[in-house]
Amino acid sequence: MLDSLANNIKLINQKLSGSSARLVAVTKTQPISVLKLAYQLGLKCFGENKVQEMVEKYEALPKDIEWHMIGHLQTNKVKYIASFVSLIHSVDSFKLLQEINKQGLKNQRVINCLLQVYIASEETKFGLDEPELLELMDSEELKSLQNIKIVGLMGMASNTEKVELIIQEFKRLKSIFDSLNQKLAPENVLLAELSMGMSGDFEYAIDQGSTLVRIGSALFGNRVYL
Ligand SMILES: *Cc1c(COP(=O)(O)O)cnc(C)c1O
Repeated sequence: MLDSLANNIKLINQKLSGSSARLVAVTKTQPISVLKLAYQLGLKCFGENKVQEMVEKYEALPKDIEWHMIGHLQTNKVKYIASFVSLIHSVDSFKLLQEINKQGLKNQRVINCLLQVYIASEETKFGLDEPELLELMDSEELKSLQNIKIVGLMGMASNTEKVELIIQEFKRLKSIFDSLNQKLAPENVLLAELSMGMSGDFEYAIDQGSTLVRIGSALFGNRVYL
């Protein structure tokens, strides 16, 4: 495990070098022992998609790790991660944003968030469509949320072999990102991060301007769901 993980990290870092993208190691379903290895090999930014799993791992691991929530987040669970989460990639409603703000206030911190945008041509993925995104960004209420900061967008391309489609979807997210950045935004919005790209498509995402790639299986091998 150690050798193959070290090798995978090296390969991925080679592909990221010279680009603006940083690696979020997607550690969901991996046992704490594997996260410890990854940490020893220099990875300090872990992505999880389940609140309870993230909390358990946070408690067991060194405190200089950045924890990124990448999965669908229920409002009633925000409170468990609000004290330590570095970035929530998966904000897909104003209601969720309000709850994150409330928990940020309780913890006397500002919680960084990405808005998850629906870019895939599949029907199954979470996220805001473009009109919903624009409505949220333009809303008066957004300005009053002082304990959140919207630092970028996240999207998932279709799960397909069609490379052209994947590239087109990433291009679209980048163009939404660029056009939002041209508009006047409230103080709690500063779009710098573009979270796109996973094991199967991160090279295309990097080409299209990704700043955060979320990679699991290309690092740790195929996940085993128990
Ligand atoms: C699991 C997951 C990933 C990583 O997937 P891999 O294909 O294993 O790299 C990335 N993003 C999200 C939102 C995920 O849930």
